[in-house]
Amino acid sequence: MFKGILITKDDAGYRAQVQPIDDAVLQEGDVTVRIECSTLNYKDGLAITGRAPVVRRFPMVPGIDLAGEVIDSGNAAWKVGDRVLLNGWGVGETHCGGLAQVARLRGEWLVPLPDAFTTRQAMAIGTAGYTAMLCVLALEKHGLQPGDGEILVTGANGGVGSVGIALLAGLGYRVVASTGRLADAAHLKALGADDVIDRQTLAVPGKPIGKERWAGVLDTVGSHTLANACATTRYRGAVAACGLAQGMDFPATVAPFILRGVTLYGIDSVMAPLAVRQAAWRRLARDLDLAKLAAMTREIGLDEAPSVAAQLLDGKVRGRVVVDVNR
Ligand code: NDP
Repeated sequence: MFKGILITKDDAGYRAQVQPIDDAVLQEGDVTVRIECSTLNYKDGLAITGRAPVVRRFPMVPGIDLAGEVIDSGNAAWKVGDRVLLNGWGVGETHCGGLAQVARLRGEWLVPLPDAFTTRQAMAIGTAGYTAMLCVLALEKHGLQPGDGEILVTGANGGVGSVGIALLAGLGYRVVASTGRLADAAHLKALGADDVIDRQTLAVPGKPIGKERWAGVLDTVGSHTLANACATTRYRGAVAACGLAQGMDFPATVAPFILRGVTLYGIDSVMAPLAVRQAAWRRLARDLDLAKLAAMTREIGLDEAPSVAAQLLDGKVRGRVVVDVNR
């Protein structure tokens, strides 16, 4: 038995409760990990509250991220004592995940914990931070350079947005943060934003094409925000789209793409190949300012996770949340 959050769905409804969990709940896997920390991402909020059907099997342990130590391995790539982390692969959705003290996993899903990070720091980054880095890598691959102009980051106070600002600013880009929480402008500037704008300027229906402003965009919000961001991206600029915090819709026209040669990159972290993940984590180890990471992160125990997950979906959580699964 071990402690964790268990999601059940039956005649009595959809529930996520911290409770003792029997090993038998865990699915097959060739590596068992004793988890030290997990985290809360937007998708964990959806899973824990049941606000969207991301959980595909019941009972389920949520948690799309985890970091800890291998305690049993039948996989030649891993041995007892190895320090590992995991992001995605359907863990916390179809396979029992990280918001518990133990996980049984497939060895090919694991990434070695970079020497640069403790398990806490790795989970402060989590899928949110690793996805922010995937966005940065897409913009770089496009050829974007710091001298090219302003980069818009939407959902700036969220997990992906906060890490995205810190990364881009650290690399020398001029960053404009879009947020609904203008009262937090000083915090966003401390993370590296040069300017902060009200998200309402982007969230309402706009014109098919507008005045050119952004050399690049890191969008976590989707919907009208993404459409307006594309419409105001400069000639041959690039937009990396990873999120849907405003909505899954994309009420845009092709105008920015065919008149300005704007490129829209879709970013998926969940099924990204191992080599892409390793490259992203290497770059996080090189480029992320750990003092900024600490400034955007708070830590909670497992018991607090269900209520904080609901706050996260309501846009009331700033930055990142680490979950110590052993307290
Ligand atoms: P958070 O909840 O931490 O942040 C989301 C932020 O979006 C909020 O803090 C808020 O920022 C902004 N926001 C919330 N509601 C709205 C709204 N109605 N309109 C406009 N902005 C809004 O989530 P994450 O940072 O963890 O994730 C961000 C998005 O990225 C999510 O949609 C998530 O599902 C997606 N994602 C996708 C991944 C992938 O693989 N493609 C991986 C990770 C995340 P503010 O208060 O500053 O306005």
